[in-house]
Amino acid sequence: MSQPASPPSSTGLQAVIGLEVHLHLNTRTKIFSAASTDYFGQEPNTFTDPLTLGLPGTLPTLNARAVDLAIMFGLALGCDVSGFTQFHRKNYFYPDAPKNYQLSQYDRPIARNGSVMVGGERIGITRAHLEDDAGKLMHPLYAPYSLLDLNRAGMPLIEMVTEPELRTPEQTREFLTLIRATAQSLGVSEANPEEGQMRCDVNVSVHVPGTPLGTKVEIKNLNSFRSVQRSLEYEIARQTRIVSAGGTVSQDTMGWDEGGQRTFVMRTKEGEADYRYFPDPDLPPLDITPVWIARIRAQMPELPAQKRERYLGAGLREQDADSVSMDVPLSRFLDAAMQTGPALDLQRLANWLLTDVTGWLGARELSLDASALTPAHLAALVGLVEDGTVSGKMAKELLPEVMEGADPAELVRERGLMVVTDVAAIEAAVDAALLANPAAVAQVRAGNLKAANALFGPVMKAMNGQAGPDVVRRVLNERLGL
Ligand code: ADP
Ligand code: MG
Repeated sequence: MSQPASPPSSTGLQAVIGLEVHLHLNTRTKIFSAASTDYFGQEPNTFTDPLTLGLPGTLPTLNARAVDLAIMFGLALGCDVSGFTQFHRKNYFYPDAPKNYQLSQYDRPIARNGSVMVGGERIGITRAHLEDDAGKLMHPLYAPYSLLDLNRAGMPLIEMVTEPELRTPEQTREFLTLIRATAQSLGVSEANPEEGQMRCDVNVSVHVPGTPLGTKVEIKNLNSFRSVQRSLEYEIARQTRIVSAGGTVSQDTMGWDEGGQRTFVMRTKEGEADYRYFPDPDLPPLDITPVWIARIRAQMPELPAQKRERYLGAGLREQDADSVSMDVPLSRFLDAAMQTGPALDLQRLANWLLTDVTGWLGARELSLDASALTPAHLAALVGLVEDGTVSGKMAKELLPEVMEGADPAELVRERGLMVVTDVAAIEAAVDAALLANPAAVAQVRAGNLKAANALFGPVMKAMNGQAGPDVVRRVLNERLGL
């Protein structure tokens, strides 16, 4: 599925990449209060409450669902989630944090020491911890003020940190795809970067393999997989130029300029001591017991790797099993379609989904979820081809309407599109085609079997494309003595 990590470049330098990924947890309420989390696209500052606003006298209550989801995600990343976990205050003064601190986890994160496999390589997960999200500051162009929206403040976040073990921008993208698929499969997070539910900071350095790691640069707040990949490509090239010219990389925190497609320095890095971490006195430590862990394990849905095995076992091509298992909406759709037509051929259904349906959606920049196609309709369309009611060609012609929500069985009935398997009609059309194409017939008789193909088209045409192709071939072969 993935290419192995690329060899060091001609300069002898190898990139080293570590990620910090933030995911919004899929809870109904915020992490420490009862304010709703459903704020996307809503009026600024309407999804707040006294705690979200950091008003004096308010006390946090930990959202139990957020803890369960974090345990589940930690288990999926192969982490140790057992024992004590605790919240610390991370102090900083900035308008997006009305409490003047973030409630985060410091030396007792909920999940530790895990790993995942990406294209056959093991990538270490250092930790994953719970914290609250900040509000959002907006800086209107040329305005002498900034705007603050606190709807996002207090959203439950999980932050996961990887070991510096990724090597290429492509491998990093593959890792993120796996993390998104994992979070979505588990229902831990919608993990949609466009809605800010999945955000990523990337750390990157270059070094000569076998020597100590180089100085890293951190690129903050990337909100698409594409910008992760592009900014890494840019930054690796920049650092490679500096180091191979004998210079040193300065340890900066950078931003990514989407318009200019380049990184820029935001600030030099602050030290951990600046945050004055201390245990939050309002939130008691939690003890995650074996019983608790067993309860969460028992609720764990299928993970992407298990999905992949299931598809391979059901006869799907490896390449398709890889892509479907990494795309949660697609795999849910495929599974639902198979359930409505259990006799269908999985590979054939997947071919339709991955090629025809995906192509139609791609051309319109639509997502599968947003389209009017239902799993039952796709299953019905493929079923009509499988049982010979319509030809594959006819089914492809019907697809645009089915994509718009039409029921394929109804279309076929209304328009009388059933394949003609009336052998007498097909025999008549074949005889007519033989008479009209004596040259092709002579070639076949002289041993050029491929010339028979030239006779196939005219027969289908005479039948308005509605003849069963298998029957046409059989009759042609009979008449030609093949
Ligand atoms: P910091 O002290 O800056 O927080 P950490 O050691 O905690 O650094 O690591 C933060 C992130 O940076 C992790 O994802 C880690 O894998 C990555 N990282 C650490 N050192 C390097 C390096 N030399 N090159 C690239 N990434 C690195
Ligand atoms: Mg750190």
